[in-house]
Amino acid sequence: MVRYVYAFTEGDRDMADLLGGKGANLAEMTRLGLPVPPGFTVTTEACRTFLTTGSEPVGLAREISDRLAGLEEAAGRCLGQPDDPLLLSVRTGARFSMPGMMETILNIGLDDESVQGLAKSSGNERFAWDSYRRLVQMFGSTVMGVGSNLFEEAMADLKQDRGVADDLGLDAADLAELVETYKELIHQETGESFPQSPAEQLQRAVLAVFQSWNAERARLYRRREHIPDDLGTAVNVQTMVFGNLGPDSGSGVAFTRDPATGRTGVYGDYLANAQGEDVVAGIRNTVPLDELGRLNPEAFDRLRDHMVTLEAHYRDLCDIEFTIERGRLWMLQTRVGKRTAEAAFTIAAELTDEGLITADEGLARVGGDGLARLMFPRFDTSAVGDPLAHGIPASPGAAVGAAVFDSAEAVRRATVGEKVVLVREETTPDDLPGMVAAQAVLTSRGGKTSHAAVVARGMGKVCVCGAEEIMVDPQRRRFTAGGTTVEEGTVISVDGSEGAVYPGAAPLIDSAVMKYFEASEHTDGLVDAVARAMEHADRVRRLGVRANADTPEDAARARRFGAEGIGLCRTEHMFLGDRRQLVEAMILARTNAERERALTALLPLQRQDFTGILEAMDGLPVTVRLLDPPLHEFLPDRTELAVRLAAAEAHGSPPSEHDADLLDAVNRMHEENPMLGLRGVRLGLVAPGLVAMQVRAIAEAVVERRRAGGDPRAEIMVPLIDTVEELRLVRQEVEQVLADVSTESGVTVDCPIGTMIELPRAALTAGRIAEEAQFFSFGTNDLTQTTWGFSRDDVEAAFFSAYLDKGIFKVSPFETIDREGVGRLVEIAVAEGRAARPGLKIGVCGEHGGDPESVHFFHAAGLDYVSCSPFRVPVARLEAGRAALSGTETGDSR
Ligand code: PEP
Ligand code: MG
Repeated sequence: MVRYVYAFTEGDRDMADLLGGKGANLAEMTRLGLPVPPGFTVTTEACRTFLTTGSEPVGLAREISDRLAGLEEAAGRCLGQPDDPLLLSVRTGARFSMPGMMETILNIGLDDESVQGLAKSSGNERFAWDSYRRLVQMFGSTVMGVGSNLFEEAMADLKQDRGVADDLGLDAADLAELVETYKELIHQETGESFPQSPAEQLQRAVLAVFQSWNAERARLYRRREHIPDDLGTAVNVQTMVFGNLGPDSGSGVAFTRDPATGRTGVYGDYLANAQGEDVVAGIRNTVPLDELGRLNPEAFDRLRDHMVTLEAHYRDLCDIEFTIERGRLWMLQTRVGKRTAEAAFTIAAELTDEGLITADEGLARVGGDGLARLMFPRFDTSAVGDPLAHGIPASPGAAVGAAVFDSAEAVRRATVGEKVVLVREETTPDDLPGMVAAQAVLTSRGGKTSHAAVVARGMGKVCVCGAEEIMVDPQRRRFTAGGTTVEEGTVISVDGSEGAVYPGAAPLIDSAVMKYFEASEHTDGLVDAVARAMEHADRVRRLGVRANADTPEDAARARRFGAEGIGLCRTEHMFLGDRRQLVEAMILARTNAERERALTALLPLQRQDFTGILEAMDGLPVTVRLLDPPLHEFLPDRTELAVRLAAAEAHGSPPSEHDADLLDAVNRMHEENPMLGLRGVRLGLVAPGLVAMQVRAIAEAVVERRRAGGDPRAEIMVPLIDTVEELRLVRQEVEQVLADVSTESGVTVDCPIGTMIELPRAALTAGRIAEEAQFFSFGTNDLTQTTWGFSRDDVEAAFFSAYLDKGIFKVSPFETIDREGVGRLVEIAVAEGRAARPGLKIGVCGEHGGDPESVHFFHAAGLDYVSCSPFRVPVARLEAGRAALSGTETGDSR
């Protein structure tokens, strides 16, 4: 027989699927013998049954009344007993915490009679009426569907009538009157009376929790977070304890370690004479938890004992909600607590030292996202005072600039060198130029998947979004937050890692973690904790980690950050700057001789580039990719040229022949879809001499480094192929040049020749391609673009925020690999490539190579290495280590 209800004494923490997170932890605390007010949990299964059948599951009512009888027996009084009522709270508790569902109904069991009993038994009439008032209000709005604003208005009217500022100014008689007003309101709105039967109150509250699973906000949240719709929520029914019974009562929250820094000690807040809800609502100022030691030493000592018990039991930082009722401590909730990235690393190291967890478990509990946050500079919070406003930390880092209120102003000021912060209610694609120009973006609306957040993250720009405390007034070009008005041009500081906005220019502190990676400086405990996680990750990881770098400086930095080579050296920047002239000459050449001359002039410059990089990465592989972008990217802009020529004509001066030739070439080469045009290997196959020049430059750089006593390990990579035929042709040319240089120099140059796999056709024919390729590297940027048919340069700003909102995907497939589609192509190519050429070396060099979740996929797909930008190298090392730990618990640092 299915069972729908479990007493707290019957469950444990492993039953979270059935009992929800809160219910499982309440049961666990009960099992540990901690003082938990007795109660029971109605299972997620009961909720699922209710949601599918639309009616109360058969047998549920009986099970609830059985458990209730147990509670009543233990308490020695009955639910709603007229002279001394047992009161209950009803709370949601899904597997994952989920905003939008009904939260809590307190004081179930009060009615017109038992409120008198409560007044007598508590000796506090005001308390009794306030409790009843809260019940009628919460029940009326959440169960009976009366707009909560109506209750608030009634309360406001009464306060005005009595001439008092807050509800503490209302006495017992006022509150009794308010209860009557509320009940009338309910009757008016619903045609029903507030139920006077405690059993009915309980039954309807439980069903209302079930129903709230499908509340609009909860559904939206699930869609965005990809939480299945059919999990259902559990319901926790618990004996009420009261923190608002006088100065010897109170409520608080406690953490077993500091969730901000990870340090051990006593952390938390306490509010005397208050209920839990009041602590979170911030109606009065809380005091630090230590203060409880003075107010009630006995309860404080017991709380500390319980904190030690819980931390040892959960082997992790726990956060706790508790209530003290007339001096007696009650534990209301615990869970493994959220923490900052700093705390995650520190706690992992300390718990490992304390022998509570293994080094593997420690590594599983930190994450690459957190590590990346720790590598940014941050504000010196001791010097900045209170934030102006808080919002969602959408894109990490710290930035200072003058507030501006539209895109044009951002661009105007940035052009003359001013640093600006773009402040908007929310951004749209029209704001893009301003976002590019700004140091940071601040919005008052929208969440982590809003346009501002998605685009800023993509640009690596600091962003705080959804800072609801600020009121943006673009017309008057200012915003207000609390009592402060910030006019356009006023400097503010935006902390995208913490989601805070400060007035003025906050002083910046360099990241100690960054210094450690840059210069192996061990400055503090956090750095030690990070270093230990990195060392352990390096010990256990199977995946190699290389960097995408195309200058000697970047190569050297990547090496300091732990890169084991270069997985992608893009050569396009080597065609820019003062070399443009030579590239132009090559493109405009009318004869072979002219083209040869231009290429010959480029050769020594390219050779020099490669020599520097090979030197910085001496002894490690350097994968050089032959030129990829279409050639017209190296010519002046088409419109600019046309305007220049037209202007010359308008001034009566003779048109420049060079400009005319250039425009001609640009027009000839113009493509509507350059990303799908003459680029990658196609360019090498139709632009004579280009591949040969690049390969010669590489080969001669190898010779030069060898002669200098170095150990150069260049690898030559062909971009964007569709078919093995393309690779075969280019490969012949590459081998010829390598042979020529070997003969000329007397030094054997033997570079592996491989290809990028970045088009679906290449992935699907990887077996054939492997016959000609000594290695593969997945270009997942282009592979994502071409698999989805998404222009990588346009779509994120154009419509991704809408796609994310609709839950079509949870994260941009350009950020985290789409396992199902793009990932499937990767798996096919790995399997077929290795079947054709056993031991084929395979890496990835798209942006995904530095994305934590994607690194786990590449590990599982059997790749040999990931390659990412130098700053992401530590992230990739850490995640590669975590990926190698199978079967250990995982979790990120936030
Ligand atoms: C890719 O497409 O993933 C890649 C690494 O090449 P690029 O970004 O230079 O096109
Ligand atoms: Mg590419």
